[in-house]
Amino acid sequence: MTAVHLADLLTLGARPAAGLLLSLTDRCPLACAHCSTDSTMASAQSPGGPFRALVSSFTPDCRPELILMSGGEPLLRPALVRELTASAATAGTGAALLTGMFFARGGGRLPPAVRRAVTGLAHLAASLDAEHEREVGRAEVFRALGAALDHVPHASLHLTAVPDAAGHAYLDGVIADVRRRFGTRVPMLVGAVRPTGRAARRVPVHPPAGRGATGRGATAPCEFAHWPVVDQGGTVYACTRQSLLRGGPAPAHLVLGHAARDTWRTLSERTLGDPLLRSVRTLGPVTTRERYGPPPAADGCATRPGTPDPCGSCLALDPATADATARQFATPGGRAVEHTVLALAAARPPHRLAAARGTLPRYADLVELGWTG
Ligand code: SF4
Repeated sequence: MTAVHLADLLTLGARPAAGLLLSLTDRCPLACAHCSTDSTMASAQSPGGPFRALVSSFTPDCRPELILMSGGEPLLRPALVRELTASAATAGTGAALLTGMFFARGGGRLPPAVRRAVTGLAHLAASLDAEHEREVGRAEVFRALGAALDHVPHASLHLTAVPDAAGHAYLDGVIADVRRRFGTRVPMLVGAVRPTGRAARRVPVHPPAGRGATGRGATAPCEFAHWPVVDQGGTVYACTRQSLLRGGPAPAHLVLGHAARDTWRTLSERTLGDPLLRSVRTLGPVTTRERYGPPPAADGCATRPGTPDPCGSCLALDPATADATARQFATPGGRAVEHTVLALAAARPPHRLAAARGTLPRYADLVELGWTG
């Protein structure tokens, strides 16, 4: 896989175990006030061995389609990025990366080590928001992104703002600038700043912060339990909303293993086979708990009384619920429902997939800019 458009990335994201997220470091040299991971240069960073071990376990007949490297700032480790990209490619797996473009500060240069690291990627994504622009200027980000486009087949910008009048004015201005500078070459994923990490101290709590916040249809199937994610220390989680899992010990069904000792075959089998994950992806966490799990709190979501709490429901699922859901998926009817729900979900056009994952609806079409289908 040598080229992945943002729209294709979203389509892959709707397929369980089609990809693997690698959080290469929690560190970042920027100090964005909205950082969702609360990263600093003092944040945790572990040796790269577990990432190398897991990616080297890919085989041509058992591999994800894509690895997506993020952080913190993954390009603080350009040699590791190159190594993982090359290792994944030997099995036929593509590589994408999400960066905050710290290296663009002071002129918008693409340093040689970064140029070598991005060369070979199937997709380069860069994040940008008003707080980020206080750290790296928009013109510098554009200059470095333009230089990177000489070395990667596809790039995108991931824009965020608080969705109020000022936030929409900011987004409209950036989007117009991107269109002027790049035409349809750079699609955009536009979302609301979530109240997690440093943003939790600055962003109004709506949807509610912490474990239990999703900002999507409360009874919908979960869109975040499809790809495993490896944290900076090598622990592999089933939920890509790491901010939820940082808030306390994760329940067993959301911890898939460890990158140092588990192969992709093992981790993908757990992702696809765990009955609670299957039910969270098919029925949704709220319905799973209502049908098979422990009784929900009488007042629902702790911060929105009366509202079903998707992630709170998911975190409360227990071994008895797993047994009940396993019995359900052992029936032809249970398997048929799962197959149908996943097939319909994956068949949605990319702008609808983006909306389901939290993109602000009025900007959802921008994920398909320059996409030829
Ligand atoms: S419902 Fe479960 S898997 Fe989905 S985002 Fe919430 S905690 Fe993660």
